[in-house]
Amino acid sequence: MKYISTRGKSPELSFCDVLLGGLAPDGGLYLPKSYPKFTENDLNLMRSMSYQDLAFSIFEKFIDDIPANDLLAIINKTYTADVFGYNRSNQNPEDITPTLKLKDNLYLLSLSNGPTLAFKDIAMQFLGHTFEYVLNKENKTLNILGATSGDTGPAAEYAMKGKKGINVFMLSPHGTMSPFQAAQMFSLHDENIYNIAVKGVFDDCQDIVKAVSNDLQFKKDNNIGAVNSINWGRILAQIVYYFKGYLSVTNDSSQTVDFTVPTGNFGNICAGHIARMMGLPINKLVVATNENDVLDEFFKTGNYQPRSPNDTFQTSSPSMDISKASNFERFIFDVLARDASSLTDYWEQIENGGSFQLDKNNMEAMSVFGFISSSSKHENRIKLIKKFYDEYDVIIDTHTADGVKASLDHFSKDTPMLVLETALPTKFEKTVLEAIGKKPTRPEALVNLEKIDQKFEVFDNKTSLVKDFILAKK
Ligand SMILES: *Cc1c(COP(=O)(O)O)cnc(C)c1O
Repeated sequence: MKYISTRGKSPELSFCDVLLGGLAPDGGLYLPKSYPKFTENDLNLMRSMSYQDLAFSIFEKFIDDIPANDLLAIINKTYTADVFGYNRSNQNPEDITPTLKLKDNLYLLSLSNGPTLAFKDIAMQFLGHTFEYVLNKENKTLNILGATSGDTGPAAEYAMKGKKGINVFMLSPHGTMSPFQAAQMFSLHDENIYNIAVKGVFDDCQDIVKAVSNDLQFKKDNNIGAVNSINWGRILAQIVYYFKGYLSVTNDSSQTVDFTVPTGNFGNICAGHIARMMGLPINKLVVATNENDVLDEFFKTGNYQPRSPNDTFQTSSPSMDISKASNFERFIFDVLARDASSLTDYWEQIENGGSFQLDKNNMEAMSVFGFISSSSKHENRIKLIKKFYDEYDVIIDTHTADGVKASLDHFSKDTPMLVLETALPTKFEKTVLEAIGKKPTRPEALVNLEKIDQKFEVFDNKTSLVKDFILAKK
């Protein structure tokens, strides 16, 4: 399998090169040249597979430059019941992403049982092992530079800590993450993990990362890499649980299901789109947004108008406070029948602060992909967290609540609906407390998380300070 750029002006690459490379040189995002297809019969054969075998049968279609035995070893190391072991009492940890039935045809797909209690662990843990494998084979090192507003940073650090050949430099806005999120990162004392709290907001951190990455010489001299949400390896790893979820709520592979996905950067639902393109019988893919509803507006009108950071609200589902979804370009590439030149025109408008409107033909073309959307507000989250607690004795987090809102807007009682649970409620306990009057219980190991000694640097908002730090520590 070769990978091509959405902008059409980069050489085709294999998986390992795409994995370490990030953005394509022409500014586009990598996608496989074609989507492998699974038949109804293939799906039936997958029914008896473990999560690991399922992952292997999907990954091997996309990865032809890691020998099969090595790939299987990486998968078996990554997806263990030990690492993804925080499960509700009635769920089987061997399932890695178990399903929880709420009522007839309504399910939660539990994706947040990994070390940082958010779905990002599923992809990040795979990246950690795969990076280590590829770097070792090519005798290279990597200095990962990232910015986080809360969930990406912990998932990346837990995945990369102690890995050979890898350092992580993670920028976060000083003093604005939830105490739990900050403690998740700052309590790590591993030698290869560097936490940098920047006196500024998330966008300032992001700007520093961009400034460093745009200094091509510095980037090359210091092997700077990224694990942000455009990384193809992350999308690939996320495809697996759509298959797993589908197989666990159907008996035969002619049945269709719907998925609802709490959406920010469009990475998670992009994996759902690809699963559908591969033949997984998904009827609807429901995009759930919070008050930052740029994508809801797009799916209703065909008008894509990203907003500036100043017009982006801070909400109680903060990991979805995004008004310019970085993976959206991948989906639009498919909507435009992979016409890289039209796509480049559209994105030039976006990069100049503008917008674009799909015409009638493109809107029609888009309708075959099954997308539909809804947005939700703080009051919906509060109401639904309470309702699900009262009716099903399940506490959901604020992002999952946005998903639940959208799923109920589009629920049809004859089709199984799976809502992706993107975080556990303990990460956002303040809002949960507001909704149900009590805090959710934490996994045993994290009860005293905030009391652990914290290791982090505080920097003024200046790119040069970060560069000097990397030079000193790499
Ligand atoms: C990252 C995140 C999202 C958004 O996922 P995308 O892939 O960026 O669309 C939703 N919920 C939670 C809890 C997250 O951490």
